[in-house]
Amino acid sequence: MEKIKLNLFHLKAKEDLLSVHQFFKESIKKWFDNDEPKEDFFHIRSCPLCNSDRSELEYEIDNFSYHRCLECESIYTKPHLKDGVLDELYSDGTYQVYQDSLVKKGSKIRKGVLELRKSSQIENIINSDEVSLLDVGCGSGTFMQVCKEKGWLVEGVDPSPEACSEYDIEVYQGNFNEISFKKKYDVVTFWGVLEHLSEPILAIRKAKDILNPDGMIVFEVPSANCFMSEYLKKFNFSPTRYIESGRHNIFFLKKLIDQIAYELKMEVSLIESNGLDIQTILLEEFDQITTEKILNIQDTINDLLLGDHYRIFLTSQK
Ligand SMILES: [Zn+2]
Repeated sequence: MEKIKLNLFHLKAKEDLLSVHQFFKESIKKWFDNDEPKEDFFHIRSCPLCNSDRSELEYEIDNFSYHRCLECESIYTKPHLKDGVLDELYSDGTYQVYQDSLVKKGSKIRKGVLELRKSSQIENIINSDEVSLLDVGCGSGTFMQVCKEKGWLVEGVDPSPEACSEYDIEVYQGNFNEISFKKKYDVVTFWGVLEHLSEPILAIRKAKDILNPDGMIVFEVPSANCFMSEYLKKFNFSPTRYIESGRHNIFFLKKLIDQIAYELKMEVSLIESNGLDIQTILLEEFDQITTEKILNIQDTINDLLLGDHYRIFLTSQK
């Protein structure tokens, strides 16, 4: 399916990116004392993806230390935020600022282009008209609404009581790993969710448990092997996207995703990278010709699977 050359500034205004970035920087200050992580909020843990204790420092941003796991090569924050600290961000309204400023404003292009493409990608692989879908971390619910308009049966999960308030769609409020589901689904999706969780592997295993035999798991996660990550290693700064200090705590590697798929007796049907690296780094709007060249460079980076996010479709082994 054809890719979309996405202009970051059509989705999110520069001023909004900067102000939300600043807002979160302020809201996480309480977790530190003289730039040192407070024990009340942080703990040292092994790699959230493979459990190895061996790691080395990759870079430090906004007082967070990002380590590369020497076993699975993924990147994670060390020390790591304790369970519950992030949940508070979602339930106390802090995360709502992100929704209001960055998600809702770009909702037209999101719904008409991006979410539509996601659902079409699923449709192309699953080959069925009656799709039942569970969207974990459903947020505003736009993706589910697009699926619902195709006649699919959709349900969501989100820790926020405000989630999906604009649409008439059933949402389980709470932590996905703690909810017991009474039925199975054809598709379980995690759009930008696993990197926020303290136990992402448990969540993927759980998704497999509630999947119909020919079902599909779809997730989009920040990559640990991308242009942006290499850039940050050389030229340290605090980007308005990708890192999202305090919220993105795990960055995935393709090798590990293949391993997870193998363990679940699934296979990677489709993988693509959807980066917005160059525009995130430059954070400037240019004339049309320059913008086109920037989008072309990004497109090339994405084709090399080196964009800042992976989008992955796991299906049962044939
Ligand atoms: Zn690891």
